[in-house]
Amino acid sequence: DAFAGMSDKLDKAWARLQGEKDLNADNVKAPLKDVRRALLEADVSLPVVRRFIARCEEKAVGMKVTKGVEPGQMLVKCVADELCELMGGVGAEGIKFRDDGEPTVVLMAGLQGVGKTTACGKLSLALRKQGKSVLLVATDVYRPAAIDQLKTLGKQIGVPVFDMGVDGNPPEIAARGVRKAKDEDIDVVIVDTAGRLNIDEKLMGELKATKEATSADETLLVVDAMTGQEAATLTASFNEAVEITGAILTKMDGDTRGGAALSVREVSGKPIKFTGVGEKMDALEPFYPERMTSRILGMGDIVSLVEKVQAGVKEEEAEKIKQKIMSATFDFNDFVGQLEMMNNMGGMKQIMQMMPGTAKLSEADMEAAGKSMTIAKSLINSMTKEERQYPDMLVASTTADSRRQRIVKGSGRTEADLAQLIMMFGGMRTQMQKMSGQLGGQAGDVGLQ
Ligand code: GDP
Repeated sequence: DAFAGMSDKLDKAWARLQGEKDLNADNVKAPLKDVRRALLEADVSLPVVRRFIARCEEKAVGMKVTKGVEPGQMLVKCVADELCELMGGVGAEGIKFRDDGEPTVVLMAGLQGVGKTTACGKLSLALRKQGKSVLLVATDVYRPAAIDQLKTLGKQIGVPVFDMGVDGNPPEIAARGVRKAKDEDIDVVIVDTAGRLNIDEKLMGELKATKEATSADETLLVVDAMTGQEAATLTASFNEAVEITGAILTKMDGDTRGGAALSVREVSGKPIKFTGVGEKMDALEPFYPERMTSRILGMGDIVSLVEKVQAGVKEEEAEKIKQKIMSATFDFNDFVGQLEMMNNMGGMKQIMQMMPGTAKLSEADMEAAGKSMTIAKSLINSMTKEERQYPDMLVASTTADSRRQRIVKGSGRTEADLAQLIMMFGGMRTQMQKMSGQLGGQAGDVGLQ
């Protein structure tokens, strides 16, 4: 099975951080070396491993270790996040269907023997289960046996197959198939293209021509997971020549070491959309990077533990801010904290959720706030302690002008930036006071206007 034994090998890596207090340039080296070795043993291609480890290292070093979590666990989480990202991020990407009533055209490309024809059948069946009508098109005019194979598969799963035998050329046959699908109001056309033993110019030229002749919506490269490191080079070449939209990784059930799953996206920028996990027609699965990550690391428990603790810490911070709002002492220091939390994902939303019947800041407000964060921070850094604590000094006081000028100068920003910041702060404070008013808090009429 793919990635079997990998997590055991990695246990040793995380254990190296036992007794450490943080993650630093020295102590992450050895465990990451273990990760590197394990990935290479799993047949991930070397350049991919190199870049991956470099990214993990950069991210891990100096990472703040959340209270209640061990540095080793933190590194697991860090590597898990990077792995998931490497494979395309959370969620599976299926076929993108057209929404203009025309049939969606899917080209299946790949070398001979990788499981392309089988994948055509599997995908047809999966789409049929989603309620789509499908037409299969056989274009491998060089191998009559391949055409027969597709026809047999079609019969077996009850999906019509269009073919012209060995007459005509593949782009023309494919285009005719698409026209037939249009005439018959069929939702999806899956074109089984010719496979060769090696990548050659003729194969690529023909594929390109077929893609153009059919205005294909998806060009899926079928990749055999058993080819290991080769999968990376192969994917890169196909993508360069015909621009694929995704890949199907077959034979993930065999005794592959799985590495191809990690390389495809990195070398092509295109997602793996499905995996083949057996010879039967129903052995096709959507590809979920996060599930694959947990299969590789075998560390699902630790990852969710770290997430929980991190969420808990955020909740603690949110609770503190909530208290501040209730007592109407929300100041520039809190504002910075708030911006940082928003930056750290959904902090503001979390507070909102804690407030019953809240007035909402719009998404646009939050985004704008996020963007101005660096500017805001530099301005606030140039404020005195008092100014930060009593924001009204910058508006109401008679010395406001000279204070403003000093802050602008000290921060290297403009007066407009500062005016914007004060407005943003005022807006947020007013909103918050409204919210705390609804809560029956102590907020007085100190709104910054
Ligand atoms: P093509 O030449 O690319 O069209 O390859 P085929 O579809 O004919 O498949 C080649 C062989 O691989 C056949 O024996 C299939 O049964 C087998 N095969 C295809 N996909 C899978 C898979 O996901 N798992 C396993 N174990 N075998 C597969």
